[in-house]
Amino acid sequence: MRLILVGPPGAGKGTQAKVLCQRFGIPQLSTGDMLRAGKKNGTLPAEIVAVMTNGGLVPDEVVIGLIDARFGDADCQQGFLLDGFPRTVPQAEALGGLLKARGWALDGVVQIDVPSELLEERAIYRRSHKKTGQIFNLKYSPPPPGTDPADLEHRADDQPETVRNRLAAYEGMTAALLPYYDAAGLLKRVDGQGDPAEVTDRLLRALGKA
Ligand code: AMP
Repeated sequence: MRLILVGPPGAGKGTQAKVLCQRFGIPQLSTGDMLRAGKKNGTLPAEIVAVMTNGGLVPDEVVIGLIDARFGDADCQQGFLLDGFPRTVPQAEALGGLLKARGWALDGVVQIDVPSELLEERAIYRRSHKKTGQIFNLKYSPPPPGTDPADLEHRADDQPETVRNRLAAYEGMTAALLPYYDAAGLLKRVDGQGDPAEVTDRLLRALGKA
């Protein structure tokens, strides 16, 4: 399975990616996670950290380089799920080149749709568990009782002002990906509202794997 998961920030991409990867036994390639790891261990240049903190898009060559390097790893040879990449048509074109060079093709591009008024709220209440990486929402899917609040992380770019910038970046650039993949006959759209387990069922049905 070679998949791309597309959706605005707060659509539930990260949550659904983890479930799909487990189901298909493929790695999740999240450029956001890779960049955050680089920020944490101090290997990411300060100007790129600043772009991320403001909710802008980092330069194409940075994210394309991260994905190209991962494609060489053993765990990616049987498939992968791309989460947060590509975000623009030039990135999609670059991805097309990387796939072609390896003789690979995509099985599908799944778009998770969520009305914009819900997105801001979802991102603002989002917390991830520092040790397990599990994603919670303080309002809709809170962590289990007894969870130490110090173990919950609120992403630096999940603050209201930045969330608005990220949504604008999505509308301005990433939305153009949808007609690109639709024209290639790869795009499937799924309603991202409601219980996460229901959304997973919709995704599996869209992929013909229910
Ligand atoms: P995410 O976790 O996917 O929301 O990504 C967090 C941040 O990392 C984004 O707001 C961007 O600053 C940066 N980023 C992640 N993936 C990409 C990408 N494909 N192109 C450009 N910037 C990216």
